[in-house]
Amino acid sequence: MKCEILAVGTEILLGDIVNTNAQYIAKRLSDIGIFVYHQSVVGDNPERLKEAYDLAFTRADLVITTGGLGPTKDDLTKEIAFEYFGKTSVLHEESFKYIEEVFRKSNRTVSVSNKKQAFFPSDAIVLKNNNGTAPGCIIEEGDKVLVMLPGPPREMKPMFEESVIPYLKKFSKEILVSKVLRVIGIGESAAADMLGDLLDNENPTVAPYAKEGEVTFRVTAKASNEEEAKALIAPIEAKVREILGDNVYGEGNTCLEEVLGQLLTEKGLTIATAESCTGGMVAARLINYGGISASFLEGAVTYSNDAKISRLGVKEETLKEYGAVSHEVAEEMAIGICKTSGAHIGLSTTGIAGPGGGTKEKPVGLVYIGLCYGGEVVTRELNLSGDRQKIRQRATITILDMLRRELLSSK
Ligand code: ATP
Ligand code: MG
Repeated sequence: MKCEILAVGTEILLGDIVNTNAQYIAKRLSDIGIFVYHQSVVGDNPERLKEAYDLAFTRADLVITTGGLGPTKDDLTKEIAFEYFGKTSVLHEESFKYIEEVFRKSNRTVSVSNKKQAFFPSDAIVLKNNNGTAPGCIIEEGDKVLVMLPGPPREMKPMFEESVIPYLKKFSKEILVSKVLRVIGIGESAAADMLGDLLDNENPTVAPYAKEGEVTFRVTAKASNEEEAKALIAPIEAKVREILGDNVYGEGNTCLEEVLGQLLTEKGLTIATAESCTGGMVAARLINYGGISASFLEGAVTYSNDAKISRLGVKEETLKEYGAVSHEVAEEMAIGICKTSGAHIGLSTTGIAGPGGGTKEKPVGLVYIGLCYGGEVVTRELNLSGDRQKIRQRATITILDMLRRELLSSK
């Protein structure tokens, strides 16, 4: 079944509001295996609305409209549709009673224009609106189906979920089920190269998507039911996991901080951070996890040399000899925060986030990160690109991933 989503409203054409209804409906239709071939927008104008129906039904079997079901003169979606199908409308008693009831509760009387909202062709399927007065409706005409929904998202979404999805399921022979695998520590193209032919697989498909220093792979199967889809996904997911190894850190909506929080709690480890260029981002990310209080002791933002010396015990000579942005200082910062906080694990960052401050020897994007655990320190040099914010974000993600790998490998 081919679908077109038709948003009605001059406000959308003028750019006053964003057509989030179409986005929502398209996403939900794809979940149940109904394909949207076109999305269109038309203003509150009778002629153009009629043309829009004409065009939509030449290329779609199912047209879903949103908007224009209200009581005012410019709300024409229903009236033009009934005219288009040559249908007369009559008062739908149940809807009218409901509208009267809503008005009575707020001590108002129903006007003629409100009564208009309760008029439908006698063979229409009327959809109750539990969050407003305008009912929606479904019109079946031969093999064409027209679904009309109210414009306000808070009315449209529940109506769509409660009435339209169950109605449409009879048309969708197939459903789509997706599983998302989240990858870190490897770029999108490197990960894609490793997966090779798997990315050309037809069912399920494997689609990469890069976002904020991570890569996600969405494995999507088409099948007649959920169980079948899951069975198709399982072997492909296993292959992806086998190839990408522990670069895969989670699935679905799991985020990195959740994985880290759980690993820290499971192992009963405490952590503290000493940050220079990331300025608290590492601590903030760790603290995103709701249960982190069992592990996170403190985060120090030691931006100046003095703070590194007085707060963390970094040696003045080390700063003089190697500079604040160096392996040596990152190491002393990580050791220092462990000592002063008493945490099992200490993390440190020091770098040049730019835009100024770079030199030939130490360019913008040079960052050192350190991890101290069990008396041992590991440091890494990073050469990051991007603006100040990006460099700081990338350094943060890299050190969090370094922590994750350390926690996975340690007993
Ligand atoms: P009402 O009874 O409020 O008049 P309606 O069904 O007639 O509802 P419209 O008048 O077209 O709907 O739009 C009402 C409001 O709903 C808009 O002002 C806007 O806030 C929201 N809305 C309408 N269409 C969309 C859309 N496509 N995407 C997101 N929001 C929308
Ligand atoms: Mg309206």
